[in-house]
Amino acid sequence: EATPNIILHAADVHKNFGGLRALSDIDLQIEEGKTHAIIGPNGAGKSTLLNVIIGRIPPSSGAVVFDGTVLTGKAPHEINQLGISRVFQTPEIFPDLPVLHNVMAPAFARRDGAFRVNLLRSIDSERQIRQEAEDILDDIGLHGRRGDHAGSLSRGDKRRLELAMCLIQRPRLLLLDEPTAGMSRHDTNTTIELLRKIKSSGMTKVIIEHDMHVVFSLADRISVLAQGRIIASGLPQEIKEDPRVQQAYLGG
Ligand code: ADP
Ligand code: MG
Repeated sequence: EATPNIILHAADVHKNFGGLRALSDIDLQIEEGKTHAIIGPNGAGKSTLLNVIIGRIPPSSGAVVFDGTVLTGKAPHEINQLGISRVFQTPEIFPDLPVLHNVMAPAFARRDGAFRVNLLRSIDSERQIRQEAEDILDDIGLHGRRGDHAGSLSRGDKRRLELAMCLIQRPRLLLLDEPTAGMSRHDTNTTIELLRKIKSSGMTKVIIEHDMHVVFSLADRISVLAQGRIIASGLPQEIKEDPRVQQAYLGG
């Protein structure tokens, strides 16, 4: 068997907020092409870890390396341009713009006071981007709403719109922070199907999720975070049977 390619490595990451140790001794390795779930109780440090990876929060010590490039110290937009996109726990959309334009916008980057096609997409014309945005909206079940203001969408639809805004960037690594939070069971299932489809495209994903149904339907690997530490990491079946994990959930 070939050695797996580690596309992202968070090495010896610590993060303190004042006296609070939000992350301690984090060593996380993400294999290229895989879906890696991070689970753990509320307040475990999951969102903080994602924020450290995307450059929103500087670690107190340690480093994050993406495909041979040290991310630590880089600005969020630089990290994004290296091919990392994140779906936030709270959707960040343009409420006054039509849904279609929301999806198209991230394919452009603001440089020198003008909008240019995002570096990752430099060969594509605006017409190609519009077509791809329409295709993604079709996949995501929002094509019928493409002319409506994004602000008029339901909470669940806003979260799917935000996922579409990530997908158009064609990231190499997609980070999802509780992508089905606040969704109905029906919308959750639609989102799982969509994430499965993305999985077959070979995009690497890190997903934070509370819903164990979602985790076990999607994850190739699972890491469990509790009180800022990774207490277990392995295949879904190993995690299910791990007494430390059961204790962290039952006790936590
Ligand atoms: P999770 O996403 O696993 O629920 P978080 O990463 O949001 O957990 O939070 C981990 C801990 O760090 C919590 O105790 C939280 O209150 C604290 N925390 C998160 N962000 C900040 C911040 N910006 N300033 C101070 N404390 C924070
Ligand atoms: Mg969180």
